[in-house]
Amino acid sequence: MKQTFEKPRIVVSACLLSAKCRWDGDTISDQFVTKLKRQAKLIPVCPEIEIGLGIPRDPIRLVKNRNKTELYQLSNKLNLTKRMTDFSRKYFEDIGEIDGIILKSKSPTCGIQKVKLFDSREDKAEFERNGVGLFASEALNYSDQVVVASEVDLQNANNRERFLTSIFMTAAFRKIGPSPTQKKLLAFQELYSSILIALGITKNKTSKLSYSAYSEILYQSLQLKQNAKNIHAIFENALDHYRDDLSSNDIERFESNLNSSRLTIETILKLRATVLVWAVRYDRAWVREQAFFNPYPPELNHT
Ligand code: SF4
Repeated sequence: MKQTFEKPRIVVSACLLSAKCRWDGDTISDQFVTKLKRQAKLIPVCPEIEIGLGIPRDPIRLVKNRNKTELYQLSNKLNLTKRMTDFSRKYFEDIGEIDGIILKSKSPTCGIQKVKLFDSREDKAEFERNGVGLFASEALNYSDQVVVASEVDLQNANNRERFLTSIFMTAAFRKIGPSPTQKKLLAFQELYSSILIALGITKNKTSKLSYSAYSEILYQSLQLKQNAKNIHAIFENALDHYRDDLSSNDIERFESNLNSSRLTIETILKLRATVLVWAVRYDRAWVREQAFFNPYPPELNHT
């Protein structure tokens, strides 16, 4: 049951991939991003280098100026706002189709939330942690068809699961192209029907839709969270497909996990792995036809 996956195209803060581009000349790396490298097409970018800042460089910061946010280098009294905004806008205009963006947290350029925002240009100015980096701000406005996360968000198993499911789903959708045959579109709708059901979108809302109507629903689903009741129903349905083949012990164990007080991400991954084992052992087409049980390459399995 070897499933092939289209590689998602992901924009990544270059420093998360050990690029020597940080302000202090140091390098860092991120385990998840490094793992993703083999399964996705990563597009590294360091906006600070792109606008001509060197390595090492004096620190820059976000400064509040009336209702606007400036990017400011205190040591040289340099306002970098226009350079960074112009670069970022052009970057996203030119980037083409992408499925996700992973940005370095806390950075005045790449941080998507809770970045230090100083209340003046003064050296000893106070700050609050409610700023958004200038490049990150363009990334967040870029498209609601693209998921954006920081490397810290992705340390959380729920966020990671959601991110991976989304990027591989949109990459697969890109692959069928904007004018798929009816057969291809129906096959895609079937493959992703359980994932959309888990997100609260019932099958009769998605089956046999035109490409554009389906595309709208699919991309809207990126904003939704999976619903425990619906996930429960999908696993019950899976169990019913195999019930006649399973021993009473297998059924009991599965039901006990499924009915445990909270369907945590760990339990969901465990149940999913069990269903995949049954699919291999008893060879049923239904599981192979549902991306819910195999939403991304198994090499990226986590927890
Ligand atoms: S956080 Fe962004 S701007 Fe800063 S070093 Fe990393 S990629 Fe470059």
